Amino acid sequence: MWCSSTPKRPLASASTKMKLIDTHAHYCDSWFTAPETPEQPYTEIIDRLLGPDGELEAIVNVATTPDNAPICIEQARRWPGMYAAVGIHPCDCQLYADPVAELERLRPWLDHAKEHKIVALGEIGLDYHYPDTDRDKQRAVFIAQLEMAAEYDLPVILHSRDATGECVDLIRQYPTVRGVFHAYGGSVETANELIEHGWYLGLGGVITFPSAKRIRRVAAALPLERILLETDCPYTAPEPYRGTRNHSGLVRRTAEELAMLQGREVEEVIGKTSENAHEFFTLTEP
Ligand SMILES: [Zn+2]
Repeated sequence: MWCSSTPKRPLASASTKMKLIDTHAHYCDSWFTAPETPEQPYTEIIDRLLGPDGELEAIVNVATTPDNAPICIEQARRWPGMYAAVGIHPCDCQLYADPVAELERLRPWLDHAKEHKIVALGEIGLDYHYPDTDRDKQRAVFIAQLEMAAEYDLPVILHSRDATGECVDLIRQYPTVRGVFHAYGGSVETANELIEHGWYLGLGGVITFPSAKRIRRVAAALPLERILLETDCPYTAPEPYRGTRNHSGLVRRTAEELAMLQGREVEEVIGKTSENAHEFFTLTEP
């Protein structure tokens, strides 16, 4: 089913500068929160980016376990413009003997999702990159979270590595659940199928890597109406910052690269992707 993307707010006039939205960040990660971190405190970076003269309109702050979910929610409470997503990352399933049971810890927050500025379940999915992965465990947690997303009527943020076919098969079984395929690295054909199911594609710093030729080709061909920009910070910093601690301000590099790949003005890319983020998440302060 094609979901028409009717804007929920008026488009900015030519004289109004559109602001960026980073739809996938991890400010609960210890690379940001550890007191001994040598980089500029992340709180100063967010103060600047989401401040009145900042480049960003919003950030979706993504938790990876029920243990870092409260940090993520607390950070979202601190900054107007920051929102939260909660869930169990496929790679973090191994932290728990019974991760499906651990999901119950998310319910008190999900029961009051708006109040806690929770706009999605994430990040969730399958990661088969490492050979010793317990695939059955990951699958059970992913399915349980797709069911929770349907129950709470929340979209999902999908993480998939070396598991696209299986992720898409499971997504098909939950036609009422919409999602964003974070760090999309699949084909244009799979993207089109996801789009037909109401899904979006997340693009981040990888599209700036000269070696990521196939992903850059796919990014050039994807419909701008279905793209969300993201950083996945503190990881996956774009060129020329690759290897350093990433932050939401560097989402601009991805916007610039996408504009170049698609032959568009960068302001058009920023305007449309921010409109998409509003369409996909419900970004309204409680
Ligand atoms: Zn992530």
